[in-house]
Amino acid sequence: MNQHEDFLPYNLPDISDAEIDAVVDTLRSGWLAPGPRVKAFEEDFAALAGTKHAIALDSATAGMHLALITLGIGPGDEVITTPTTFAASVNVIIHAGATPVLADVRLDDYCLDPEAVARAITPRTKAVLPVHHAGSACRMRELLSVAKEHDLRVIEDAAHGLGTYIDGRHIGAFGDATVFSFYPTKNVTTGRGGMLTTNNDDLAERCRLLALHGMSNDAWDRYTARGSWAYQVLAAGYNYTMSDFQAALGHAQFRRLDEFQRRRSDIALEFNRRFGAMPELVIPIEREGSTHAWHLYVVRLRPERLTISRDQFIVEMKERGIGTSVHFIPIHHHPYYRETFGWAPGDFPVADEAFETMMSLPLYTRMTDSAVDRVITAVEEIVRGHRT
Ligand SMILES: *Cc1c(COP(=O)(O)O)cnc(C)c1O
Repeated sequence: MNQHEDFLPYNLPDISDAEIDAVVDTLRSGWLAPGPRVKAFEEDFAALAGTKHAIALDSATAGMHLALITLGIGPGDEVITTPTTFAASVNVIIHAGATPVLADVRLDDYCLDPEAVARAITPRTKAVLPVHHAGSACRMRELLSVAKEHDLRVIEDAAHGLGTYIDGRHIGAFGDATVFSFYPTKNVTTGRGGMLTTNNDDLAERCRLLALHGMSNDAWDRYTARGSWAYQVLAAGYNYTMSDFQAALGHAQFRRLDEFQRRRSDIALEFNRRFGAMPELVIPIEREGSTHAWHLYVVRLRPERLTISRDQFIVEMKERGIGTSVHFIPIHHHPYYRETFGWAPGDFPVADEAFETMMSLPLYTRMTDSAVDRVITAVEEIVRGHRT
């Protein structure tokens, strides 16, 4: 298959000269610690999220950890999350000293099923941690109403959610705290980084304190003419801040968000148009009133219409030089969580069914139209060769 000797990865970052110049300028500026570029990035991010506060951090994982502990969640508390997520969503609950509880997802969007959440609530439940899977908006209205009824906090894992809107509002202000990721695979990257958004002043203040060792003044305040060298340690905090050159990269990326989202959406809609015509496939939905961020394009196989398994499908894609992935191996399939919490495959049947049949196709802004066609042709060929 010489025509496919160039391997098409399932994800690639999109870094233009604007980002490179912004980072180089920062490196030459003599200021690398969290400072003016972090502040500028935070301000613009808060404007998009529609929140009073946006706090730049060195990962989404750090942000979720801070959100949980600043909301007072700890030992003896239970936090409900989804099995269809990355390890970080569950690890942060464990890091806070609380107990993760899983509730099943919906098969239409791979996000938490609000009814399953309601069934998982016990007297010890303190919070819900929904994940906007692939950039698809969670059923926030239902989740917030369950949370309100049981006095639960809501911390959103929006690692995939930059570009996700609900009823015309960008996510960020629905729950108590929302956390975005700038890991290299995400819609906007800082190399590594995250952003926590909230309208809660106390929570924001506490997060800023804990993100910088529990110190009363940040570096910008201590090392510039306007500040003082003195500080007090008010808590045993963490080292979770974003550096100024990460923020320079992120802010320059963020300015291109509209361009990025247009391209992502064009590709996703073209996939939908072609794959939607094939009864062997289930295409992702964009629920009424919401905007999908198209962080991932997740297509599902209908096993009853195909003689090929998902695993074999991935092998055949790879033979055609196309990278794919699966989001995610469910939490209850991993050895650590099985041994620690007694979960086993089969415990969350919808998540299990999704896992066995789902596949993430290449979707990134630098994909050319011919690369998009190549993916479509490959999927169509494989389906045609394995119809029941
Ligand atoms: C990437 C990812 C994270 C972790 O983000 P970091 O910024 O790398 O900490 C958390 N949750 C989900 C669903 C992710 O995809």
